[in-house]
Amino acid sequence: MSNATRSFFRSASTLSSLAGKGKQTFDVVVVGGGIVGCATARQLKISRPELNIAIVEKEKKLAVHQSGHNSGVLHAGIYYAPGSLKAKLCVEGLDLAYAYLDENKIPYKKTGKLIVAVEPLEIPRLNNLYKRALQNGCRDIEIIDGKRIKEFEPHCVGLQALWSPHTGIVDWGLVTQSYADDFVKRGGKVFVDYPLTEIHSASESSDHPVVIKSRSGLPEIQAKYLLTCAGLQSDRIAQLSGCSTTPKIVPFRGEYLLLKPEKRYLVKTNIYPVPDPRFPFLGVHFTPRMNGDVWLGPNAVLAYKREGYSYFDVSPTDLFDAISFRGMQKLMLKYGSFGVQEFYRGVFYSAQVKQLQRFIPELKVSDVTRGPSGVRAQAMDVEGNLVEDFVFDDGEGPIASRVLHVRNAPSPGATSSLAIAKMITAKATEKFNL
Ligand SMILES: Cc1cc2nc3c(=O)[nH]c(=O)nc-3n(C[C@H](O)[C@H](O)[C@H](O)COP(=O)(O)OP(=O)(O)OC[C@H]3O[C@@H](n4cnc5c(N)ncnc54)[C@H](O)[C@@H]3O)c2cc1C
Repeated sequence: MSNATRSFFRSASTLSSLAGKGKQTFDVVVVGGGIVGCATARQLKISRPELNIAIVEKEKKLAVHQSGHNSGVLHAGIYYAPGSLKAKLCVEGLDLAYAYLDENKIPYKKTGKLIVAVEPLEIPRLNNLYKRALQNGCRDIEIIDGKRIKEFEPHCVGLQALWSPHTGIVDWGLVTQSYADDFVKRGGKVFVDYPLTEIHSASESSDHPVVIKSRSGLPEIQAKYLLTCAGLQSDRIAQLSGCSTTPKIVPFRGEYLLLKPEKRYLVKTNIYPVPDPRFPFLGVHFTPRMNGDVWLGPNAVLAYKREGYSYFDVSPTDLFDAISFRGMQKLMLKYGSFGVQEFYRGVFYSAQVKQLQRFIPELKVSDVTRGPSGVRAQAMDVEGNLVEDFVFDDGEGPIASRVLHVRNAPSPGATSSLAIAKMITAKATEKFNL
């Protein structure tokens, strides 16, 4: 049975609908069927099997947004600020992820990763990255010279590179589904097509004081506790229980190019540039995929809709919401020219190929076609600073002690998902006195 078929049968048996049902009651409701929500619900069920827990997801399937639209990389934790939760959870999450994938026979490849310096001025930056990676506890990384780059990637040129042997690739959508299957096997419930629209406290004193509502035709749910992991909507969901408007989620679309099948031989491993410290994103890279495709990119442009995957996906409300935000205006002032270049590279992809030719000179514009895209939930403060680490929020009012919002679960949230789930479970257990 192919993975896709296996995944279809799994999802068919795991996902339920609440349409036409009466009022529901749970101990804990987790909002969001992305990788963070599914991993967290599973972990909570493992640590407290007696709790009656449900996931509610607004789409008809799981992992429809960030968790199913990403580069599919198991990151080693090289880039992130030492001491940050992001660094710690990535390094911890990588080992947990490999163990989980082995245990559950989910296919992955340890392709490794090269971060390649092609100009002399990039070498000190590469060395700083190496020191940072060592501080973060990344295992078996090394700095290699141009000759050794060719041993790993015969078509790649560079002066020096950081080689990370434990970086890998996997289908994170499949992993999300597997967490959900596991959760359901342990007695959890997953309800799809249930967009949460309101959060209230029960009118009379109740054992289940958190009331959540959805669109008409779907029943109300009452819960003792509510945990939200809503990705691109996390700030809006948090505001439903009285949280502040910031950090705000600004959606950035990343567009990939696809290497034509006859040119896939050019790329075996993940090839990344040395990030330019003047800019907030990692830079376009080469990513082999589990199905044999090779993706190039992504760039980063403002998405005109929170969940808008093309230039034609426009929500006037979402667009106005983003560009009227003071933080976004400040970011545009600071990185305006970078933004324009990214937009240009998105429209005229020959410009993106030019960047990639620095690493594989024989790559031609005719070797690529337009590929898929993903939208990143970029949390931003009112000063226009990108919020790099995790943010949790409680809200206000009588149910604040019953609610925990994950407002920011930054990339690489998929790699870190099992470590994130442990952290959120510990936080929820303490806060809710479970
Ligand atoms: C382009 C791109 C490339 C990336 N590459 C990598 C990578 O290679 N490796 C890696 O580790 N990470 C990568 N990441 C990051 C990773 O994908 C995310 O960190 C991770 O998927 C976040 O998971 P999540 O569950 O928080 O969000 P999501 O997957 O977005 O899930 C949130 C869920 O909440 C649901 N929801 C929202 N509102 C409601 C509502 N009102 N009611 C009910 N449900 C609701 C949504 O429908 C969604 O399913 C990448 C991200 C992007 C965008």
